[in-house]
Amino acid sequence: MRREPTILHLDMDAFYASAEQAAKPSLRGKAVVVGGLGPRGVVATASYEARRFGVHSAMPMGQARRLAPHAAYLVPRFGLYRDISEQVMGLLRELSPLVEPLSLDEAFVDLEAAGAAWDAASARTTGERLRTDIKTLTGLTGSVGLAASKMLAKIASEEAKPDGLVLIRPGTERALLAPMPVRTLPGVGPATGDHLRRAGITTVGEIAEAGEDELIRLLGKAHGSALHAMARAQDDRPVVAERDTKSVSVEDTYDVDIHDRVRVRTEVQRLADRCVQRLRAAGRSGRTVVLKVRRYDFSTLTRSETLRGPTDDPSVVREAAARLLEAVDTTGGVRLLGVGVSSLADFTQEDLFAQAAGEHPAEPEPEAEEEHEEAPAPAERRWPAGHDVHHTAYGPGWIQGSGLGRVTVRFETPGSLPGRVRTFRTDDADLTLSDPLPLVPEAMRRPPPQPVAEDAAEQEDEKDPGAIPGPAAGPRDGA
Ligand SMILES: [Mg+2]
Repeated sequence: MRREPTILHLDMDAFYASAEQAAKPSLRGKAVVVGGLGPRGVVATASYEARRFGVHSAMPMGQARRLAPHAAYLVPRFGLYRDISEQVMGLLRELSPLVEPLSLDEAFVDLEAAGAAWDAASARTTGERLRTDIKTLTGLTGSVGLAASKMLAKIASEEAKPDGLVLIRPGTERALLAPMPVRTLPGVGPATGDHLRRAGITTVGEIAEAGEDELIRLLGKAHGSALHAMARAQDDRPVVAERDTKSVSVEDTYDVDIHDRVRVRTEVQRLADRCVQRLRAAGRSGRTVVLKVRRYDFSTLTRSETLRGPTDDPSVVREAAARLLEAVDTTGGVRLLGVGVSSLADFTQEDLFAQAAGEHPAEPEPEAEEEHEEAPAPAERRWPAGHDVHHTAYGPGWIQGSGLGRVTVRFETPGSLPGRVRTFRTDDADLTLSDPLPLVPEAMRRPPPQPVAEDAAEQEDEKDPGAIPGPAAGPRDGA
């Protein structure tokens, strides 16, 4: 384990719910629950106000509604969250080439890799500046944990929530961990927790004291010795750079839903070509071709096919994407299409198997994933609660609810005062679904000029984090 607390863990605070509160002035300070609204829906994120009622993520939505009947219940808007995520991840990549995202709103950063921090003082300065930059750029807050290992950095960011920073000084780890419940450690879920409790072990300190042999006896070789090591704060896992895990993908959102199947096919071919261009530009090849389709009702699905070997051949990617599209129903219209290649290899090779895939469609391994699992009621399909709309006379607003042939819209925007509600017929021609508005206007995203740090007497000029360039402004090409 390293000697300095230079591994950073960032976790945005109540991310989806905070994004919705930033977008909708009338919901600020109120209980907000984002998740699937259908019969099998679960809570994705609850705002801190909703958590006071006992609502938490992964809870069935019915239970949440009983606990917090007056909360606002909204369908997730992944496109908005992904845009914010890209902004945040961009800030992290300015700090280090070693950024390991865990989800849209969570990542590890190795601050030592490019000299963004080298000791406790510089790590704290960099962490606080990151929090300020995130707030300036996105309008949202994130919590930062700093420690000498990934496990402890993640525990620290949890302790820092909401809107804080916690640094765990090397040498203090074991004393800090000892009184914490066993569930604090990664890999300890409810079942393992119960198992340990029956053996009289409830705290991390008790795991350390029990000894490795006892842990192995209780939990088996792999899990037992891993847990014993973590309880003693031994965690040498490196931060794994994003380029080692991520895919190359491109996507397009359409102003008007595409209904024509031929046009959908053409768009997918075009995206496949663009995707291969980016893949080749990066000098890479990939084995898994991914197709993403967001339909008129905002339900998003991805389909993937894994080839026998890596490819960067446009015709192979085009054909795989076309095969995947054949299994997707697009009759209601399509809002967004994307094509990606994952399972990347660092080399580009002439791969005979992949090249032959067109002639011998070679055992695709179909994998499917749906972001919205449940089918919403028909009224919600057309007007999903929380999504943006535009009215020709009243301007931008968001759907507060719909049913019985009526849709209720609150007319407000991220920068406005709380707005008023109006009700329309669901077939009102003046009302259309629209894309999310930015939470922070472009012109306000520039960081304020950095104050001269007069009290930082021993600042080293070359390593001054103030030398890090501001957010790169450039066109984005898909996710
Ligand atoms: Mg979070």
